[in-house]
Amino acid sequence: MNQKVRLVCIECPMGCGIEIDMDDERRIREISGHGCPRGESYARAEIEDPVRYVTSTVPARGLTVKMVPVRTDAPIPRDRVLDAMAEIRKLKVERSCRCGETLVEDFLGMGVNLIVTRTCAADGFEEER
Ligand code: SF4
Repeated sequence: MNQKVRLVCIECPMGCGIEIDMDDERRIREISGHGCPRGESYARAEIEDPVRYVTSTVPARGLTVKMVPVRTDAPIPRDRVLDAMAEIRKLKVERSCRCGETLVEDFLGMGVNLIVTRTCAADGFEEER
């Protein structure tokens, strides 16, 4: 029996509705509804190898901000996002940091780094812009 998956392409603001027709073993038979080749690639990746960037915040101590924004520097497998969020909840930033600086190298052994996305100064110091 065929399976159908519908999704909205997020590659551009057009937001095309895409339909993916698959066989029993989730092999793609047909992709329709996309307005351009990027949509087809997006749909194929969503079925065969879905990935996501993870963005979040980490509590700060002794800094001018309460929370430090972070994200992975590359997308990770979608089925590891919850693990990533659980790991991020264990973190705390206790020193000044620069935008783009690595907070955790090889995050969860996934070959990506968790990076800071805002320069944050220690209490009593001014943040650089
Ligand atoms: S399929 Fe192409 S035109 Fe449609 S939303 Fe995706 S990128 Fe944009």
